[in-house]
Amino acid sequence: MYYIGIDVGGTNLVAGLVNEAGRILDKVNHPVDKAMSAEELCLDLARMSKKLCEMGSVDFSQIEAVGVGLPGLVDNGAGVVVQTVNMAFDNTPLREIFQREWDVPVFLGNDANCAAAGEYWAGAAKGCDPAVVVTLGTGIGGGMVANGKVFTGFANSGMEVGHMIVHPNGVLCSCGNRGCWEQYGSATALIRLTQLEMERDRDSAMWELCEGDRFKAQGRTPFAAARQGDPAAKRVLAAYLQGLSVGIINLVNILQPEIICLGGGVSGAEDDLLLEPLRELVIQGTFDKNNPTRLERASLGNDAGVVGAALLCNML
Ligand SMILES: [Zn+2]
Repeated sequence: MYYIGIDVGGTNLVAGLVNEAGRILDKVNHPVDKAMSAEELCLDLARMSKKLCEMGSVDFSQIEAVGVGLPGLVDNGAGVVVQTVNMAFDNTPLREIFQREWDVPVFLGNDANCAAAGEYWAGAAKGCDPAVVVTLGTGIGGGMVANGKVFTGFANSGMEVGHMIVHPNGVLCSCGNRGCWEQYGSATALIRLTQLEMERDRDSAMWELCEGDRFKAQGRTPFAAARQGDPAAKRVLAAYLQGLSVGIINLVNILQPEIICLGGGVSGAEDDLLLEPLRELVIQGTFDKNNPTRLERASLGNDAGVVGAALLCNML
């Protein structure tokens, strides 16, 4: 049997034909047509899935299920996309519309939960339970697989780890609260810290990397400058790692996952600048030091969403 996983992003749609082992056999993608209504988008996903079968010479009857991962709030029980950021979906009955075009079992998941499902089934978290996947991007996404099932909370908003409050009077977050973890541990936060430190230190090597324009700073900027020995960049990374570690320590002490995998662009930094110092900070804050949580880089990259969506049917 085969599965189809679709990763719906704000700008791009990716669909993959996936086997039981979580391997992607074939993949198609195209940009999101911003002019499409929510209903047209759902039908587009169904047509994309059918095309994938035809490309891979797989009969429709060989597809066990289709899973769709979306950036937002989804209700798999009802088959509805409740709301998404910057997309047309708004209480959209995706499953019902999809099945008008192709009557196949359709499962829905939040993108962070799909990433966790993918890493658990076929990536860095394989064989680890509970497994937590934390994605460092514009914000911080979180997902957990426990007892082989994706944990969603009672109404699908569980594991919004980016909004755990780590500084009660801290930086204002888009959610309305102050001091959310994603204001200190996301890629956006790293760039903010980089720009602040550049303002303080006009001699930092980071200026040259940004061609004299601090708005050209990227997540990789402080890592590259720290590699050259730049003291300002080292201060940025020390502050960032401290902020990142607080949320991870909380997750470790509340959930005691067997593994926490870090994904997203920032996680690509070299081990001696990111994972190794982070592991040291986390173990210092771990309650049960005899049974520490493994901290690793996620291994499926952008494919985690497709693989996890495809295999959601086994994990909900
Ligand atoms: Zn928040």
